[in-house]
Amino acid sequence: MIVVMKRESAEEELGQVLKQISEAGLKGHIVHGAERTVIGVVGVVPVLPELKEMLEFAPGVEEIVPITKPYKLSSRELQPQNTVINVGGVTIGDKEMVVIAGPCAAETEKQVMDTAQAVKAAGADILRGGAFKPSTSPYHFRGLGEGGLRLLAQSARETGLPLISEVLTPEDVELVARYADILQIGARNMQNFVLLDRVGKIGKPVLLKRGMSATIQEWLLAAEYILSQGNRQVILCERGIRTFETYTRNTMDISAIPIIHKLSHLPIIADPSHATGKWYLVTPLALAAVAGGANGLMIEVHPTPDRALKDGAQSLTFENFELLMQQVAPVAAAVGRRMRASAASVPASSGG
Ligand code: PEP
Ligand code: MN
Repeated sequence: MIVVMKRESAEEELGQVLKQISEAGLKGHIVHGAERTVIGVVGVVPVLPELKEMLEFAPGVEEIVPITKPYKLSSRELQPQNTVINVGGVTIGDKEMVVIAGPCAAETEKQVMDTAQAVKAAGADILRGGAFKPSTSPYHFRGLGEGGLRLLAQSARETGLPLISEVLTPEDVELVARYADILQIGARNMQNFVLLDRVGKIGKPVLLKRGMSATIQEWLLAAEYILSQGNRQVILCERGIRTFETYTRNTMDISAIPIIHKLSHLPIIADPSHATGKWYLVTPLALAAVAGGANGLMIEVHPTPDRALKDGAQSLTFENFELLMQQVAPVAAAVGRRMRASAASVPASSGG
């Protein structure tokens, strides 16, 4: 349920309400809105009518509103205004389109650095790259581990781009967070609840990919795990779902984008690379996602896709990524979003 505080309510009144909530064995999450402050009340213990009644008449409380959805903190019912996440000056969730680009996996220093420079020059905002790779087959490339993170962090630093990288296990969360600015939870781990709990406790944004067979409700409940641990910086990523169609690697659920905007305040980006599995479908699907209201895109780019150790078939060459960026801009503008003018030059000094 939501406790709506009066506009003129005092700090001590808010504190008193939070105390009552915690004494009942529940957790209160404060949301400061433009108009007023509300408290989302969540927990495993059911809200007893006595508590509801007590809070209803508590000083400073305007009203109590039930949250009808099973996901609470991720719902728009609790927070009508969009969550905007700031990663090193790049904002995600507002009118600006964010473009995350880079290789599927870090392979060599040159591959990572060349790709980072190319995507930066084409206007990407954030560098992506995996060092710990989830793999359907144990015989596929599984990433360079910490060495890969070092390469990625170095290229991110030298290009001035924030870095996103995937974390596979709860034990690796701290390690990946030392190098990456955003932690990625992959589709295969969307319901790894121990991992979700763990990233919920770190102070860095988390990009939560949709599980390949997850419903939108299951996805928002997975986000709820992270939010309920206190980490409010969750970005959702639609990356295609499993259907009967085999031509594409997955089927991109474009409708998920406006549905998420309706149900949740969290930003949603689209990953047409994993959704399609084919490089020549990446740009058309990217355009469709942007037209559908995505807050951003995640695109796989490789210097030589035919020689990539992972996901080469869906990776764009530098040239094709540049073309994608050129095509995305007018579509973004048509739906009221701006591309960030980040095609600015690479900083002269790589800094510390
Ligand atoms: C990836 O981003 O490289 C990846 C493995 O994606 P997904 O979890 O969506 O398959
Ligand atoms: Mn990949």
